[in-house]
Amino acid sequence: MIDYHLHTKRCGHATGLPEDYLLRAEAIGLQEIGFSDHFPLSLLGHTPKAKVTMESEELVDYIQDIEKLKEKARIMKVKVGIEIDYFPEVEEKIGRLLEEYAFDYVIGSIHFIGDWDFTHPAYAEGYRNLDIDRLYVEYFELIEKACRSRLFDIIGHIDVIKKFGYRPGTDLGPLWLKMARVLRETGTCIELNTSGRDAPVGEFYPNQPLLEACLAERVPLTLGSDAHSPEQVGRYFPEVKSLLSEIGCRELAIFENRVISSVAL
Ligand code: ZN
Ligand code: FE
Ligand code: FE
Ligand code: ZN
Repeated sequence: MIDYHLHTKRCGHATGLPEDYLLRAEAIGLQEIGFSDHFPLSLLGHTPKAKVTMESEELVDYIQDIEKLKEKARIMKVKVGIEIDYFPEVEEKIGRLLEEYAFDYVIGSIHFIGDWDFTHPAYAEGYRNLDIDRLYVEYFELIEKACRSRLFDIIGHIDVIKKFGYRPGTDLGPLWLKMARVLRETGTCIELNTSGRDAPVGEFYPNQPLLEACLAERVPLTLGSDAHSPEQVGRYFPEVKSLLSEIGCRELAIFENRVISSVAL
């Protein structure tokens, strides 16, 4: 199996050096890992209240560190990815910035609606006074825009809006069908991100109905733990393995120089 969503201490809210993550991945017998630390928000002209990404000066060092690790790793394949925040206002800027660096893959994630970091526990009270039905519509409109921008290889934790357990009262089935079609049309992958199991919501991203809708539309799937410490590498992967075989998913997408291929499960 592969773990394509690893952070490092550079982002300021994770622990461990890239080497520590590699050691853990080797110990649990993964075949391939990819780092996807948070792209500097300052380069997108965004100044969050809490430090959630590396600084702009660190980006080159981050890439170099992972490139070095690629050579050090004997059996394990190591990829250099990035997790970048999507804001519709700065699409062109994101495009220009991504051209400057040689990533194996780019995960586009939405953590902010306006200035609100709705994924950050410190700001979770922000959900209380909101119309959750409308919030979901707004969030998934941003996801659709992110797909249509074609800036990203993979959409990160696609239904992270559920993180703190706030759910709309409406049937989401039609929305999942629509999202799966948008992903297919735009050639965008999703990831099965196991970190949601340890969040208040207690389930993987995406939930099983959305995952199955994506599978039916043949949307490629990667896998990631969203580890923010070395011991989180590959979290819940044995369970993922049985889930994927149960729903008939037989391969995972992998990337090199932003070109997709696949590995059998
Ligand atoms: Zn993070
Ligand atoms: Fe994220
Ligand atoms: Fe992440
Ligand atoms: Zn993430």
